[in-house]
Amino acid sequence: MRQVELGRTGLRVSEVAFGGIPIQRLTDDEAVAVVRRCLDLGVTMLDTAHGYGSSEERIGRAIAGRRKGLVIATKSPAREAAPFREQMELSFRRLGVDHIDLFQFHNVSTAEDLEKVLAPGGPLDIAREAKAAGRIGHIGVTSHKLEMALQMVDSGLFETLMFPFNYISDEPARELIPLCRAKGVGFIAMKPMGGGLLEDATLSFKFLRQYEGVLPVVGIEQAAEIEEIVGIMEGDTAFTAAEEARLAEIIEFLGTRFCRRCDYCQPCPQGISISTVMTIKSFVRRMPPDRVFGEGMRATVARAETCIVCGECAARCPYGLPVPEMIAQNAQWYNEQMALHSA
Ligand code: SF4
Ligand code: SF4
Repeated sequence: MRQVELGRTGLRVSEVAFGGIPIQRLTDDEAVAVVRRCLDLGVTMLDTAHGYGSSEERIGRAIAGRRKGLVIATKSPAREAAPFREQMELSFRRLGVDHIDLFQFHNVSTAEDLEKVLAPGGPLDIAREAKAAGRIGHIGVTSHKLEMALQMVDSGLFETLMFPFNYISDEPARELIPLCRAKGVGFIAMKPMGGGLLEDATLSFKFLRQYEGVLPVVGIEQAAEIEEIVGIMEGDTAFTAAEEARLAEIIEFLGTRFCRRCDYCQPCPQGISISTVMTIKSFVRRMPPDRVFGEGMRATVARAETCIVCGECAARCPYGLPVPEMIAQNAQWYNEQMALHSA
C-alpha cells in the first residue's frame, strides 16, 4: 500500500489505518488472524483505545514479533491525572510494547474536557513526560465537535486530530482539514464508512482519496473487508460517471440528517434504542424482510412511540440532529413499510 506522511509527525504510514473497534466481536484467534492479514497486506498503522474492550490486548498478540515498522496508536478518555496515568500504563501492558507511537486524548468534545486535559499536572503534562522519556512518540486528540476540533488544531498542542469524515459527514473539508494542513497536524478520518452505514467501500475510499493528507482509519472485522479496500486503493481512484451518480443518489437519500450511530445520545429515560430507530431506513433497505419486520425489530421501533420529547438525546448528539422528530418520522415510515409488506 502507498505510504503517506502523518502531518508533521515524521511518521510515514500506510494510506489506510486499521481501526480496532470491531475485533472486539471476534474470538481472540479470529481477531489475531484479521490483524495479521491486515499487516500482510501492507497496513502499517493500527489504532485502538483503552475503551475498546479486548482490542488492545488482541492487537498486542497480533503484533508480537512483528512490531518493527508499525505505527501503534491508542487513546485514553481519562481527564484526571491518576486514571490517565493508570490507563496509559495499562495500554503499554496490553499492547505488549515499550513504545506507543501515537497517544491520543479520546473524544475531547467540550471546553470542560479540554480544560481538564490541559490542567497543570494533568493528562497533557503526563503525556509530555512520557514523550520526553521516549515512551510515546507523538501526542494527538480525537473529537466529534467541529468547533472544539478547530480550537484544538489551532492551539498547536496536538500533532494529530482524529475526526469523523466521509462523504456524508463532509463538514471538515471546508475549514478543519485546511487548518490541519496549515498547522502540520495529521488528520485521521474516523468513520470513513459512516460507522458501517455507508456500505459501498469504493465510494467511501475514492471520496477520501481526493483529500491529500487525510488518513482514513477503518474498523475491520473480516479479512475480506481489508482485501477489498486495498484493492480499491491500488486501483484507479478517480470516480467513474456511474459512481458519481450513485454518490449523488446516496447523499440525497441520507441528506443532512445522517445518524453516525455513535450512541452519544444515550441513555434515553424511556429506554429507546435511538440509533437503531435513527438508522432504520438503511436496515430496511439492506436486510431481508423477515428480519426487518420480525418481532424483535417491531418491538424496538414501537418503543420509539413512548418518547416523551424530553430533548436530552438531541442535547447530547454531537451532530445536532433533531432526534425526537426523526425517530417519530422513522417509526411512522417503518409502520407504513410494514403495512405495505404485509399487504
Ligand atoms: S427525547 Fe425521546 S428519545 Fe430522546 S431521550 Fe427523551 S425520551 Fe428518549
Ligand atoms: S442521534 Fe446523534 S448521538 Fe445519537 S447515535 Fe445518532 S449521531 Fe450519535
